[in-house]
Amino acid sequence: AIEIQGLRKSYGSNEVLKGVDFRVGSGEVVCVVGPSGSGKSTLLRCVNRLEDADDGQILVEGIDIRDPETDLDRVRARIGMVFQQFNLFPHLTVLENLMLAQRTVLRRGAAEAKKVALENLERVGLSVKADQHPAKLSGGQQQRVAIARALSMNPDMMLFDEPTSALDPELVGDVLAVMKSLAAEGMTMMVVTHEMGFAREVADKLVFMDGGVVVEEGIPSEVLARPQSERARAFFARVH
Ligand code: ATP
Ligand code: MG
Repeated sequence: AIEIQGLRKSYGSNEVLKGVDFRVGSGEVVCVVGPSGSGKSTLLRCVNRLEDADDGQILVEGIDIRDPETDLDRVRARIGMVFQQFNLFPHLTVLENLMLAQRTVLRRGAAEAKKVALENLERVGLSVKADQHPAKLSGGQQQRVAIARALSMNPDMMLFDEPTSALDPELVGDVLAVMKSLAAEGMTMMVVTHEMGFAREVADKLVFMDGGVVVEEGIPSEVLARPQSERARAFFARVH
């Protein structure tokens, strides 16, 4: 689970998160939506301390990640992250991409790392691409490899920051299908996305952010059908 209370974050004089309360329960899928600059990526990046918060509490599986005593590497190893840009290593094959962090961070032996990698490639439907280099794959396939790479670390939860935003429209569906099957397996997921169909169909909770605060949250179909604020109404009218 992710439990955030009173989270504040500024860049210089620009206050980007103005006291955010946010929760993802174990096995839950929470989608975060909102206008550009509303603080979605900053919120997500605070969860594994890619950004340092200024104030507030962040618990990940009960561990206080702002505590200087916390072993960040250990916490981060339990959180899978997938970004808009896939960040695969171009000089490595797909299989080598999936094995690298297993070997260096988790210290798995080559045979085990390979086995886990192949299992996760299977999970995203790309076993046949194991020996290819990323440049030979479509954007959607590269993103599924990035998801398989994150899964190979056996994370407790997955964070996604606009995983389909860089993709051609016809490639979006395959990536969303992989995310949907992960959700069905009970993975805890925080997903920043503009894909309202995915949010409606898959998410347990939809969170609408604007101006560094959570403006609305609730069951996706209800939030979408009956937004309580003018800001949310205007936003949903534009993205539908
Ligand atoms: P988008 O939908 O465009 O991805 P977002 O909701 O993810 O937007 P953030 O990336 O969290 O928004 O940015 C929120 C605000 O923080 C913006 O005003 C942005 O300019 C600022 N910001 C983000 N990262 C930094 C940084 N590293 N240094 C300075 N300002 C930053
Ligand atoms: Mg962003």
